[in-house]
Parts: sequence; C-alpha cells; structure tokens
Amino acid sequence: MNKLLSVGSIALDSIYTPFGFIERTMGGAVSYIGLSAAIFDVEQAVVGVVGYDYPKEYLDALADREIDISQVQVSTERTLFWSAKYHTDMNARQTLETQLNAFAGFRPVVPAHFTDARFVMLGNMEPSLQLEVLQQLTAEHKFVALDTMNYWIERTPQELHRIISMVDLLCINDEEARQLSGEYSLVRAAHQIMRLGVPYLIIKKGEHGALLFHKDEVFFAPALPLDEVFDPTGAGDAFAGGIMGYLAKSGDVSFENMKNALIYGATIASFCVESFGTKRLLALTKDEVLRRLLEFKSLTQFEIKIA
Ligand code: AMP
Repeated sequence: MNKLLSVGSIALDSIYTPFGFIERTMGGAVSYIGLSAAIFDVEQAVVGVVGYDYPKEYLDALADREIDISQVQVSTERTLFWSAKYHTDMNARQTLETQLNAFAGFRPVVPAHFTDARFVMLGNMEPSLQLEVLQQLTAEHKFVALDTMNYWIERTPQELHRIISMVDLLCINDEEARQLSGEYSLVRAAHQIMRLGVPYLIIKKGEHGALLFHKDEVFFAPALPLDEVFDPTGAGDAFAGGIMGYLAKSGDVSFENMKNALIYGATIASFCVESFGTKRLLALTKDEVLRRLLEFKSLTQFEIKIA
C-alpha cells in the first residue's frame, strides 16, 4: 500500500455565509486533505500543530480513519484561528481574521515510518517549511504536490520558486497563477510556471472547474453543478486530497491517470461545499462518491455527430 503524507495547517475556523454561521469548527488544510484522501483506504499520516484549545474530537476524527497523527504537535499556545465571510457570490471570500498562534512557530517533523512516503502533499504554508519537509523524505521515486497562496507569492518569491522547481505538481487557483506568472491568459501562465521546473500544474477555477497542464497537453475537469453551494471553505484542499488519495491508491502518475484523479478530486470537493466546514466530509461514504462519479460521467460524456 502506498503511503500518503500531508503537512500543513490545522485550524479552528469561524465561517459566516448567507445561510448561517459556524464558530471554531474543525479546519485547516490537512483536516480537509486527510478526510478526503481517507475515502481511498491509503496509509496516511498528517503532520501539523494544534494548540491546547483544540477539541480532542477533531483529532479523533482523523485517528478514527486510521490516519497517523503522531506528529501533530500540541502547543502551549492557541490553535491557528481563521475566520471568513461569504456574500451571495460564493466565489468572493472576505477573510475577517487570521491569528497564526501555534502555527507561527511550527516546525514540521515527518514520522519516522513516513519518511519513505511515495506520495506527499505540502499544504499551504511558508515555503521554507515546505522545504524542511522535503529534506526529511527518503523515497527515490516519490510524487510531491504543493499548494501555496498569494501571501507567499508576494513575500517570499525566491523561496517559493525554489520549492516549485523541486516538486511534481503545483495546485493553485487562477488568481494565484496570474500573480505568479504575470500573465493573464491561463495557458500562457501555465507554460510560464512550468518553466520554473514543475512538470504538472493544476489551475483551479472554483465553480468553473480546473485545468491540468503537462508539457503541451491540457485537460479540463468541470465542477459538478450543484443546486446550492452552502460553504466553499476547504473545497481546494478537498480537491487536492481527493487527487492525492486517488494517485496514492492507484500508484500511477501518468497524465492519463491524473485525469481520473482530477475527476475524483472534483467529486469529493462537490460534497465538501454542501455543508459547513468539514461536516459533509466527516459523513461521506465511498458509495456516495461512486454514485456521484457516475453522475459526473453522464454530465461530461457525449458522442459528437459530425454534420
Ligand atoms: P481553502 O478554502 O481551500 O482556501 O482553505 C481554507 C482553510 O485554510 C481553512 O480551514 C483555514 O483554516 C486554512 N487557512 C487559512 N489561512 C491560512 C494560512 N495563512 N495558512 C494555512 N492555512 C490557512
């Protein structure tokens, strides 16, 4: 069985949407990634830090899925706290507050039995920390995915470029791709970014799906049209978790198989947005994922009749 290691934030999130609000709920990138990848029964570990105030039940939710949390450090400070508000246009999010707390002093330590992980997801955090994780890994043939955000694109561009050149897949949104490349066209942006030395690039476009780039090839995965988007928080991380879980399960990192991974990622992300925070992922079953994959297939498959 392939091992999947995810490193990144664990947080308490307060989320306000036009449909209501939830306070201090289970959040952070690796919470979403771990729960999403758990659908695939791969051997998983998550690495992060929580504060003394982090509810035990949130960590239990990961441990119950047999995710190794031995290197989730418990700090004497408070947990990373993040709050955000969505308006009627769910694509626009306003961050109200970020209190880094324990996450500010985080130094990731990979569990000894996961240093040989073949699949690694480096969640959004300071590029120097992402590098620290890479330096602890020993597997010769591994597949490493990276997430980042505008904050690091602006503040630590050199460190970010360096880590991008060292990974296999970069997963960012359209705004970040434009900012990172200085190009407006996403196709041009993609080629500019791949020139940094990363062979696979995913550009997420929220409810408009995601593009996968590799050399001169492109693949487009739509987002499943939903009746109602309740809370988009974590959709990007659920998408990445679905992709990495699927890749770890199949062990195949070809461009062709990566297309399947994107469809799985989009399917799991479509569940994530149906409820507040991680709630829907916590209740998600394999059967539900399978049924929605089939809906996805009928939505996107067609035979063209040439006139
Ligand atoms: P997404 O909706 O995919 O952007 O992910 C939202 C998650 O990112 C929330 O659960 C937050 O707790 C987490 N988050 C917010 N700010 C940061 C940050 N500066 N570094 C790492 N994770 C963060």
